[in-house]
Amino acid sequence: MTQDITTRVLHADRLAAVEHGAVLKPLHIATAYGYQTAEELTAVFQGQQSGHIYGRQGNPTTAALETKISLMEDAVGTVCFATGMAAICSTLLALLKKGDHVVASRFLFGNTASWMNTLSQLGCEVSMVDATDAANVAAVLRPQTRLVFVETIANPRTQVADLAGIGTLCAERGLLYVVDSTMTTPHLFQPKSVGASLVVHSLSKSICGHGNALGGSVSDTGRFDWDRYPNLLPAYRKGAASGWGLLQIRKKGLRDIGATLSAEHGHRIAAGAETLALRMERACANTLALAQWLEAQPLVARVHYPGLASHPQHARSRALFRDFGALLSFESVPGVDPFEVLNALQLVIKASHLGDNRTLALPVARTIFWEMGAEQRASMEIADSLIRVSVGIEARDDLLGDFAQAFARLSLKRPA
Ligand SMILES: *Cc1c(COP(=O)(O)O)cnc(C)c1O
Repeated sequence: MTQDITTRVLHADRLAAVEHGAVLKPLHIATAYGYQTAEELTAVFQGQQSGHIYGRQGNPTTAALETKISLMEDAVGTVCFATGMAAICSTLLALLKKGDHVVASRFLFGNTASWMNTLSQLGCEVSMVDATDAANVAAVLRPQTRLVFVETIANPRTQVADLAGIGTLCAERGLLYVVDSTMTTPHLFQPKSVGASLVVHSLSKSICGHGNALGGSVSDTGRFDWDRYPNLLPAYRKGAASGWGLLQIRKKGLRDIGATLSAEHGHRIAAGAETLALRMERACANTLALAQWLEAQPLVARVHYPGLASHPQHARSRALFRDFGALLSFESVPGVDPFEVLNALQLVIKASHLGDNRTLALPVARTIFWEMGAEQRASMEIADSLIRVSVGIEARDDLLGDFAQAFARLSLKRPA
């Protein structure tokens, strides 16, 4: 199939046949699904016939979204969850056991980093390494290593993992390679192209885009040979091996843990996904313009954005991604409090969350990275003055204008 992602997503429901010729899958809110005969019900339970059983394990609306995400990632299958964190936690709980070793990037999303701490308390060992170089991953591998977990572009400092190098390493060692591609979205990057086994998304971010739904997903790219994975239970080693991993994730992760995506949220996320490419084009263009503008400001010490030539992984990003994303962060010069900068902004919303149509900003060290303490912040290269900006789709001049008026006011307050 050569169609682009937008075309595929727009026509996915219709091509799977919807009643009355509707072009969209409707909302299915039923908790239970009934069958004509006990034989049919049993066949669905035992996996010989496809069908829905109980809403905790999914519903037809969510299944339609799963199909769209699989199309976007060129994946063999997808399981959706209530949030991105639910997708990550449930997937790792479903696939790991005590004594296993995990290698993860040191620059993880804060809550994922916190979850890695929990995993280590549950009896897995976790090595957090600088994943911008695959050699750092290779250096900590051991016989017990089961998987490598990285993000594409790190939030908030925008380090870009050595995605291709780690993919080659995982392929050589037969390791499961899990890539959280929330920051890149399928519009910028398909992790399958660098050998990822599983692709994770927080659907709450750019894929939804409208800031009106929470969701998460994990997709199997078909690149991993599940026959080699030691933690799969015999019950899930049925049929083609390509389906085994996701089956265990759906049963042990989604069914047993129960962090299910609601049909309503799945429906809103699917509507957002239709315009992903349009929104990302606009947001990425805005972000580059803002990054270049900020880089020229005397009150700004450093700007972190993979689209800037000054970014350490600029060349890698250019080679791998269609564009450079809609998130940047910057540090003010000593003496300029990030609160002053934020409070001078009028259009930009002081809020957590990212990948929203509206531009949002926050002081990183005193909010999302506060709980972890100064030492871990330093290891993640989070400066006290760091401000994260998730850039939206406002008109560029309105956005730059807001920063211009804010910095003009700040400059007036400085001694000349
Ligand atoms: C937001 C985010 C998550 C968690 O997603 P939620 O939907 O908020 O639970 C995971 N990874 C990354 C990179 C994120 O930005």
